[in-house]
Amino acid sequence: MYIETKVIHTGREVSLFTGAVTPGIEMSTTFERGDDGSYPKGFIYSRLHNPTRNLLEQCISELEVGTRAAAFSSGSAAIMAVAQALEPGAEVVVPRDVYHGTARLFREIMIPWGLKVKFIDLSNIEELEQSVTRNVRMIFVETPSNPLLKLTDIKAISGLARKVNAVLVCDNTLSTPVSQRPLSLGADLVIHSSTKYLGGHGDVTGGLVVTREETNFFNRVRFLQENGGAVPSPFDCWLIMRGIRTLPYRVRAHSDNALKITEYLRGHSKVLEVFYPKLTGILKDQMSLGGGLVSFRVKGGADEAFSVAARTKLFTRATSFGSYESLIEHRASMEGDETRVPGDLLRLSVGLEHHNDLIDDLNQALTQ
Ligand SMILES: *Cc1c(COP(=O)(O)O)cnc(C)c1O
Repeated sequence: MYIETKVIHTGREVSLFTGAVTPGIEMSTTFERGDDGSYPKGFIYSRLHNPTRNLLEQCISELEVGTRAAAFSSGSAAIMAVAQALEPGAEVVVPRDVYHGTARLFREIMIPWGLKVKFIDLSNIEELEQSVTRNVRMIFVETPSNPLLKLTDIKAISGLARKVNAVLVCDNTLSTPVSQRPLSLGADLVIHSSTKYLGGHGDVTGGLVVTREETNFFNRVRFLQENGGAVPSPFDCWLIMRGIRTLPYRVRAHSDNALKITEYLRGHSKVLEVFYPKLTGILKDQMSLGGGLVSFRVKGGADEAFSVAARTKLFTRATSFGSYESLIEHRASMEGDETRVPGDLLRLSVGLEHHNDLIDDLNQALTQ
């Protein structure tokens, strides 16, 4: 089945009790035992398993073409569980331009916890081959990267990971399974911040881990989910499921709008450089749509970048992405002192408004 059909039909059965067409939300924290002490429906306590959470996990594993999934209360909690599924002392390779929250998590939580983390440039094949030694237990990739939107070749890195028997983890938040399926390209695990495109309406925080096969490593992630307890509420799971129903159409519209804005910005005399995923060569088979994030550098430095952001009317000045409304962000000041992002860079999360209105707005903000 195509993904447009899958998102409508997974985890959506008409209720046997009421005939309700839209699935309900199972809020109960506990479930009744049978006469003999068994759990006849398979549910015990909602931190361990919950029917609404199960539907979301089943849905995302089908979309990513995996076998099982674990839902978390945020993307960061999902990344944390994957990092803690390693043993203290394990070596990990992480891209230098990974999402800044992930970099901070590894640097300030997982290194003190005992992981040995090597931050490297994944596009530098020499550095990569030198860093991926026999001791490496996990390689973390995020493609496209954020906010510079550089692509990493998942298949090539999966070859390296396989050679040293390391787990390959791919953060697929920016692409979504609509345009990129890392598990089919050799990744072992996919991570999502479902706060972004999967939720899609800027009203729920969540995270997901999907596995290609049922491995001991994934069982450890599941153990950390159940016993660490960073689980999403049933209502949050339901909101993310509702978002996913329209995901393919939203991602396509976000991408179409972003591409038109990219073309507009490339032709503007006040714009130094525009960043948008380049879908060429082998990476054209990896990712089918560019997504809704566009970054650009403004002539005149950070002050001018702030002024341009302040003059926009349809773009709200706020962080995050993946919701229906357009956002504009001065990224360096959001990331703080350790940022590697140029001070004159603005990042757009292109929403679902009409592209002509968005371009008119950027035009008046840039040329005023
Ligand atoms: C937002 C984001 C995260 C973190 O997710 P939260 O839900 O904010 O904890 C991780 N990776 C990427 C690529 C993100 O954009």
